[in-house]
Amino acid sequence: MSTGINNGKLHTINIYAVKMIFIFASFIVFSSSTPLYKNNKGWIIVIDPGHGGKDPGALGSFSQEKNIALAIALKTGEYIEQNIKNVTVIYTRKTDTFVELRDRPEIANKSKADLFISIHVNAALAKNAYGTETYFMGLAKNQRNLDVAMKENEVILLEKDHSTKYEGFDPKSPESYIMFSLTQYIYREQCKDLATKIQTQYKGNKREDRDVQQAGFLVLYMTSMPSVLTETGFITNPDEEKFLNSKDGQDKIASSIFKACNDYINEIDSKSGISVSENQSSETVSDSITNEISNSGDLMFRVQVTTSATKTEINPENFKGIKEIDELFVLDRYKYVTGRFTNYSAAAKYRKTIEKIYPDAFVIAVKDNKIVPLQEAIEKKKKNKSKY
Ligand SMILES: [Zn+2]
Repeated sequence: MSTGINNGKLHTINIYAVKMIFIFASFIVFSSSTPLYKNNKGWIIVIDPGHGGKDPGALGSFSQEKNIALAIALKTGEYIEQNIKNVTVIYTRKTDTFVELRDRPEIANKSKADLFISIHVNAALAKNAYGTETYFMGLAKNQRNLDVAMKENEVILLEKDHSTKYEGFDPKSPESYIMFSLTQYIYREQCKDLATKIQTQYKGNKREDRDVQQAGFLVLYMTSMPSVLTETGFITNPDEEKFLNSKDGQDKIASSIFKACNDYINEIDSKSGISVSENQSSETVSDSITNEISNSGDLMFRVQVTTSATKTEINPENFKGIKEIDELFVLDRYKYVTGRFTNYSAAAKYRKTIEKIYPDAFVIAVKDNKIVPLQEAIEKKKKNKSKY
């Protein structure tokens, strides 16, 4: 079985990789339990300055990655808080302290964050390497990307009992990275989108664009929300090191990341708005999103993700990571649906998000496990909101 890793070194999946899949499965399941739609609680953004404390990260001729990452992170958070409404910024560290790698995503997961941004500084043997690149979770497409991920993952070696904590994951062994080829990552499109927006902003600030990249970063793998890792420049390049340590440089990088977040948020918010205004039930628009579990006998709106002539076992792996899937059997077809909403607009909003992983998903109305005509259901709800 080919792994698809393109560095030519790995061609088979060994027992170790399979073991790792099971070990990390808990993270995947956790990911899929996070609701995909954006509700009204506002945005929570976790900013993760790489390294810290006893882990300096990459070294320049006069500075260390950990300090640059922290300065840029704090500035980014400041811009976001000052300029984006309805947002909470949480940092994985605000001082020069050592934070274990697994605690970083854990902070984001526990606070049910909407975005996770890890800020780093690159290093290369070639002193003339320069520019910015932003990564999202995926299989490295080339050796260089794999090298960057390996270097960043190596920080776990500074942790006590890292072998136990990370279940034998060896950041230096290419074999450890096989597991990333076998997992389907639910937020891939969102991550890629945010990474692209960050790179676009860097370019606008005259920073060399080394493009959006993907690789197996543990810190991204363990998050249960869209997450990216941005390499803001090369500390090993004398000019870039100066730039990365300057007020002007840090301002430019932080404002790039802030603007990208702003664009990302505006886009998602406006998409939700479109899906609401598209439907005719404007009376229900002001209702907050309702995802209360209704009795199966109640009329409710659901999102159909797929249909099949044969029965599919219900588990997240078979449904691109979606955990809550129900089966309806209608006219010799199995229909698989997710989400339960008492009003149409909330279901339409949810569909818009599901669309990113199931482009053909659509809203249906269900009563007593039977599909009822959608328009009829919307009218009924309008007439008698309290009854249904
Ligand atoms: Zn780093």
